[in-house]
Amino acid sequence: MRMSNVKVVLAAMGVVASGMSVGAAEGSGPKNVILMVGDGMGFAQVESAGLYHHGKPDGQPYWQFQPLAATTYSESGKGYDPEAAAKDFDYVRKDPTDSAAAATTLSTGVKTLNKRIGQDADGKPLRHLYQDAEAMGKSTGVLSTVYLSHATPAAFTTFAKSRNDVEALAYDMITNSSLDLLIGAGHPWFDDDSKQVGGLGDNPYKTDGSYDRIGGEALWRSIQEGKAGGDADGDGKADPWRLIDELAGFEALAKGDGDAGRVLGVLPVASTLQANRDGDKKAGPYEVAATPNLPGMALLVEGALNTLSKDPEGFFLMAEGGAIDWAGHSNAFGRLIEEQHDFDLAVEAVVAWVEKNSSWEDTLLIITADHETGYLCGPDSDPEVNPLEGHGKGATPGFQWNTGSHTNQVVPVFAKGQGAEKLLDAVKGTDARRGPYIDNADIPKTIRAVWR
Ligand SMILES: [Zn+2]
Repeated sequence: MRMSNVKVVLAAMGVVASGMSVGAAEGSGPKNVILMVGDGMGFAQVESAGLYHHGKPDGQPYWQFQPLAATTYSESGKGYDPEAAAKDFDYVRKDPTDSAAAATTLSTGVKTLNKRIGQDADGKPLRHLYQDAEAMGKSTGVLSTVYLSHATPAAFTTFAKSRNDVEALAYDMITNSSLDLLIGAGHPWFDDDSKQVGGLGDNPYKTDGSYDRIGGEALWRSIQEGKAGGDADGDGKADPWRLIDELAGFEALAKGDGDAGRVLGVLPVASTLQANRDGDKKAGPYEVAATPNLPGMALLVEGALNTLSKDPEGFFLMAEGGAIDWAGHSNAFGRLIEEQHDFDLAVEAVVAWVEKNSSWEDTLLIITADHETGYLCGPDSDPEVNPLEGHGKGATPGFQWNTGSHTNQVVPVFAKGQGAEKLLDAVKGTDARRGPYIDNADIPKTIRAVWR
């Protein structure tokens, strides 16, 4: 919901007194909820960047939050048996979830089949967390470092039987959602090295890229003209998106007065920020120069928080580091560390924002993953699972990939802020290596419980 309308309505009702928190007045739940999802981010992925950047596996500051694990299996799988996982190296390779099912569960609290987007196993549309936030008058945002119609951002926003028709998903997200902010890649005029391949010369709509990820050429024209976007605030009138698609625009979003309107951020790359750039994918971390003039995930979350937080009733934000998973599928360890670190910097930006502009009393931050990708272990694993080998800060740890797919391992959950301790009520069992675990469905269930 747009904040200006909320302010006017509540002021007319005499609800907004000076300095009064509307969220606190209505209930005891956190005013702001930030859910950060590392796609494919298992414990070993976090530990890899911990070893490289901090010299120890649990070096990131968020290890000091309340740590837990979570099961990720979908309705297509057979659950999670911690004893089998402890004694059979192959067990976690069987029946992993895909990103669509896991993200649908994280957004709705309901398990579903692989490939489903916001629908249950019978194809019935579910209710997204962002819709609950909207109903509470909060502002809402979804952002990703991969294209905006990819499985995770789509499964937090819209509804479809399958993740595969990305053009239809993008069209639906842009024209039918009531989000206030949506940021992702998928720019039709740029390639994966951020080289411009369309939008040029006499016929700007001619491109070597693709319009699929932005909902088709006609919708892109309408976005360019500032006309795309349905009714976000329920007043029956269209609320068109304001397009941001250059680094300077994302910088202004992070530094401006926050009165940015309804923001559609389209990163000037085809599929993701850095993970698909040219150069040797098996090179060590940072050996291939990063593509210049692109934001990192930290700048994106700073922009989102700066805008969404202007709503006096608070906000819900889902922020995805989407290409940790892509580095895992490619077994590209250097790029995995780069992507994990980019996500870690975004977490640091969120923590800094909370401590400067909000408080842990007003804000709940949950960091988790949809599943692990790559079965990343230390060297000489199988049948044992060996830990990664640390070689000191700035040195590549010893590692071993064991699949190019997802696994059914438990993933990390780090939580801080009002209501974080409620996650402990959902503990289902104990994993031999990773300790007490909840289920991924417990995360949205807990958010809903603390919102009430
Ligand atoms: Zn995923």
